Amino acid sequence: MTTATASTSSPRVQPTVGGLHHVTAITADAQRNIDFYTGALGLRLVKVTVNYDDPSSYHLYYGDGLGRPGTVMTFFAWPHGRPGRTGVGQVSETALGIPVGGRNYWQQRLAGAGATEIEQSSRFDSPILTFRDPDGLALSLVETPDLADLHRWHHSEVPAEWAIRGFHSVALLENDNADPAAILVDRFGYHQAAIDGARVRYVLGQTGVARTVDVVVTDAQTLPATGAGQVHHVAFRTPDDEQQQHWLELLLKEGRRVSPVMNRDYFHSIYFREPGGVLFEIATEGPGFTLNEPAEALGTHLMLPQGLESQRSAIEASVPAIRFPGPMGP
Ligand code: ZN
Repeated sequence: MTTATASTSSPRVQPTVGGLHHVTAITADAQRNIDFYTGALGLRLVKVTVNYDDPSSYHLYYGDGLGRPGTVMTFFAWPHGRPGRTGVGQVSETALGIPVGGRNYWQQRLAGAGATEIEQSSRFDSPILTFRDPDGLALSLVETPDLADLHRWHHSEVPAEWAIRGFHSVALLENDNADPAAILVDRFGYHQAAIDGARVRYVLGQTGVARTVDVVVTDAQTLPATGAGQVHHVAFRTPDDEQQQHWLELLLKEGRRVSPVMNRDYFHSIYFREPGGVLFEIATEGPGFTLNEPAEALGTHLMLPQGLESQRSAIEASVPAIRFPGPMGP
């Protein structure tokens, strides 16, 4: 178990994670990505900004009406980026939760909406619909009673009855499930809940929204390639900056390579790789996407971090023009 030691400066608390915060993937086409995630999937574009580490490319955030942690799918838009390849040490599928009984609605909706390889199946006795987005990103919709409370984008074309309600899970492709378990179980507090073939399910608490991680065990040695249609990293949520600092110290103390705290404006982040290679982030729940835009105006303009505001015209000239989805409003 974790051995956080006493600190001279502050009382030690065992830092916690509360499940997934967001998943970040890569698209080669910002406009097609916006059209698919807001149009076909009915998510709200809650923030348009640039990749803070590479301001020449967009960073697009989608989520529920407010982009609350546990509902947020984000994309780095690398125009004309090469397709990536799913390999060992990578997120191999991202699963979103839908109401029980919603699979047929979604199958009909996604057909002809830019999704490919749309197939029904089941896992752990739950009906699921697997498909790929227009970049080839592997997604699934899982019928589950564990749904985020409805905070829908009211301009979504998806009826409230069947709206996507946050993450169900991510799947990690690994050679040995003990590798990610060294973080998920020994540090984050997940427990092994079930096994279905090569898939080992880890759950935080009993059930709940965005609190499941599947590890798919393979003998393959395929190396992952970062690129369009692949997940870049998966972020777990921690309540606040104080707990994040504890995580940073704890992970450094056990010899892991961890980034310093990065200010992403809408949350603060640290990054490290779990032993199997997947890039993990621990992100604070706040301050959230209404930091610099009112709720009704989220995602209607290109927002830049303060340090890049002086370069706005150059940045706007370097990124492709996009049509913001409309009508806007929460
Ligand atoms: Zn992130």
